[in-house]
Amino acid sequence: MKFCSKCGTQCEDAANVCQACGTPFTAPAAPVYIADPSDHTAEFDPKDISDNKVVAMLPYLLGVAGLIIAILLAGTSKYVQFHVRTCLKFTVVEALLVFVNIVPILGQIAYVVCTIICVVLRIIAFFQICNGKAKDPAIISKLGFLK
Ligand SMILES: [Zn+2]
Repeated sequence: MKFCSKCGTQCEDAANVCQACGTPFTAPAAPVYIADPSDHTAEFDPKDISDNKVVAMLPYLLGVAGLIIAILLAGTSKYVQFHVRTCLKFTVVEALLVFVNIVPILGQIAYVVCTIICVVLRIIAFFQICNGKAKDPAIISKLGFLK
């Protein structure tokens, strides 16, 4: 049951307007929750995100050197740790691709295609940090290691 804000009449929960005076019920502002299993943003402290954004970006900007710096600066920041793990996945995949590249033609084609995908996913991940997000990158996160 709910009560009209204007006349106080008790009305059905399903009613859109007051049954007595016709005042419309404004729907309670339900939190818009978009079910995205790859989005872990809500698991992190907003202060952690805003404080450590720049550190979280380093692995994406500076490659392995950035990874090492981020690991050293991460401290207790779960946000940085998340992105270090994500970036490690990229690094492992890219290292494996070097071996794929040894296989003539087919391996080399796969190497080029996968490298382009990795670069695109890294750029997407980078911009997610700019927006203060923590999302598992597509494909890479499916690999399931370094959880
Ligand atoms: Zn009313």
